[in-house]
Amino acid sequence: MASKANEGLVLGVDLGGTKTLVAVIDPNNQILGRGKLSTPARQGGDAIVEVIIQAADMALAEAGKGLEEISLIGIGSPGPLDVKAGVILFSANMDVVNYPLAARLHDRLKAPVVLRNDVRAGCYAEWKLGAGQGMDNLIGAFVGTGLGGCVILNGQVIEGKNGNAGEIGHIMAKPDGKQCGCGLYGCLELYASKSGLMRRFDKARKQGVASHLFKLWNGKGQKLKSRYLAECYSLGDPFVIEELQLAAKYLGNSLGGLVNLLAPDAIILGGGLSLALGEPWLTWVRVAAREHMLVVPHEGEIIIPAALGDDAGVLGSALLAREATVPSTPI
Ligand SMILES: [Zn+2]
Repeated sequence: MASKANEGLVLGVDLGGTKTLVAVIDPNNQILGRGKLSTPARQGGDAIVEVIIQAADMALAEAGKGLEEISLIGIGSPGPLDVKAGVILFSANMDVVNYPLAARLHDRLKAPVVLRNDVRAGCYAEWKLGAGQGMDNLIGAFVGTGLGGCVILNGQVIEGKNGNAGEIGHIMAKPDGKQCGCGLYGCLELYASKSGLMRRFDKARKQGVASHLFKLWNGKGQKLKSRYLAECYSLGDPFVIEELQLAAKYLGNSLGGLVNLLAPDAIILGGGLSLALGEPWLTWVRVAAREHMLVVPHEGEIIIPAALGDDAGVLGSALLAREATVPSTPI
């Protein structure tokens, strides 16, 4: 399989809680076409498959390619997953339980499918093609709807006993904290990603707090886009800035602890929120990380921005699919 897959075109799919990106990718990791749609996160697995297929059609059209030219499909999905069976077990940010995503896509697109964790895919691309090139010890922290992570040590992606290692978002940030989408209480994701920000913004909106945000976003029923937060930042909205700084503090303090634990070459800070906010967010997270690092390097920064932008997920999903020895579905 590897040789055929390496020669052909791969569809890379980045399934996120907010958006679904699909790209047609050639053997040199060049993106030939892209499709991007909102993820119907609350409508179940079949609706998600339909959106992936629509986005794939858009990407193929832009690339000027046909489905028959695709030799392999790589999907990065929120988890936890059963990667061997190609099943999403559940997700904190999508209403999907025990859904055989790989098999359903294989039925529709007629190419073998490799399912992998979305953040691990993005981090893998950053390692091989982006900000982490040449480094052997890396942590990825991707902040978007949720907070995902990935650990690479001694040049190996750490998968752990069950394949689900790296869930930075679900280490505890606050004892007796609120309940996370995953079912646990006090998870870092609730204090350092959009899922948690959204709850606090919704509460503030109902309490009549004044903010530019509430001209753009009218509560929990609507997706909280990262660009709304970037717009509020650029307008100097004090409420949103204070909330973002608090989120950065939670995130950075925890990342400082992970530096103490693993002494990585770098932590790559990515994800939709990090991308949209850019420099101020990076600086706040760096400052908070230093507060909790046993040894602060005199030169250089440990926390570095992701370099591949929105493309990390699709590139990584395609790379991992090409390198997989056994796909999640029949060839
Ligand atoms: Zn959690």
